[in-house]
Amino acid sequence: MTADIIEAKDLKDVNPVFGNFSFDNHEQIVFCNDKETGLKAIIGIHNTTLGPALGGTRMWQYNNEAEALKDVLRLSRGMTYKSAITGLNLGGGKAVIIGDAKTLKNDALMRKFGEFVHSLGGKYITAEDVGMETRDMDIIREVTPYVTGISEEKGGAGNPSPITAYGVYMGMKAAAKYRFGTENLDGKTILVQGVGHVGETLVDYITKEGANVIINDINKENLDRVSKKYGAKIHNDLDIYGLDVDIYAPCALGATINDNTIDRLKAKVIAGAANNQLQDEIKHGKILKEKGIAYAPDFLINAGGIINVYAELVGYDKDEIIRKTKNIYNTTLDIFNLSEKENITTHQAAFNIAKQRIDNAKK
Ligand code: NAD
Repeated sequence: MTADIIEAKDLKDVNPVFGNFSFDNHEQIVFCNDKETGLKAIIGIHNTTLGPALGGTRMWQYNNEAEALKDVLRLSRGMTYKSAITGLNLGGGKAVIIGDAKTLKNDALMRKFGEFVHSLGGKYITAEDVGMETRDMDIIREVTPYVTGISEEKGGAGNPSPITAYGVYMGMKAAAKYRFGTENLDGKTILVQGVGHVGETLVDYITKEGANVIINDINKENLDRVSKKYGAKIHNDLDIYGLDVDIYAPCALGATINDNTIDRLKAKVIAGAANNQLQDEIKHGKILKEKGIAYAPDFLINAGGIINVYAELVGYDKDEIIRKTKNIYNTTLDIFNLSEKENITTHQAAFNIAKQRIDNAKK
């Protein structure tokens, strides 16, 4: 035994990958390193039963490698169920690049990352996520065909975020219909946390419908711009969770519904774009149900983006993308009804349907 192993305090310290709490029998996990460009990335391939693992790349300044690994494990798993419930023939994958996109990202780093994606021979196909832009996908496309979210000028379907926002808006309306008896958001107070690519377009939709919109973001530039453009109120105190709102739309990062926040929530509906909103899907899903908070499962309502990028692979058009994304309204309502009928959480109801599709395909 080496000294390192003797000093390990916990099992997860000696088994940080396969023994990781967020490991869910992922098929493959690829660690990518390049000294010249400074690239440090992890590609997580969760499941390829339904097709190649498609999911975006997130570039983020993680506090440590363990955080990055956990994120890619959770995100790639989420993609498996997102594509399954949306009826797409795709598996689940995701990648994270460790580092601040504002300072570390450059074309050479993107190309190097693209080479790693290419080395997987199409088992993983990438796209945008937090910290990435359509332009980055165009650069990656120079070295591999296994990338989506390419600009329209380069033959792609463009930035998926507006379509994601449309799907979230549909899911939010369905959740409102279930919880308030009307899908009309006019007069509803809605907190949007994170007004980046998706959050801003969501603010646009709900403002047009007459909602009172409150926004929160750690990026002051985004906050001021969106507030000015749509007349949204800014709330930037640390405690946003206790705000007296009708709907909370998490559109920043995941796990905002956790042991520290859940008891403070006053919202009656949660519907947003962020992946993995529930820190613990089982425990926090149950508490939300007990509190009568209608939670629209994230992986169901934020599927507009994957529908949009999938079109680049199978070749359907904008009308079909909109039609499929609009259908998120119906699926979300079905999930609320199923959750009530079977007395299970909405997360569980959506998960069961997705899992069933994968199990059937395996057979
Ligand atoms: P983005 O990077 O454009 O925007 C995220 C925004 O959240 C930024 O303005 C950022 O400053 C803010 N933010 C980060 N941490 C915050 C915090 N602690 N509190 C408040 N604000 C914070 O990302 P995006 O593309 O808009 O995606 C938003 C979320 O939706 C992400 O979780 C992403 O994984 C998910 N998502 C995006 C898409 C898509 O098509 N872009 C698809 C599915 C899911």
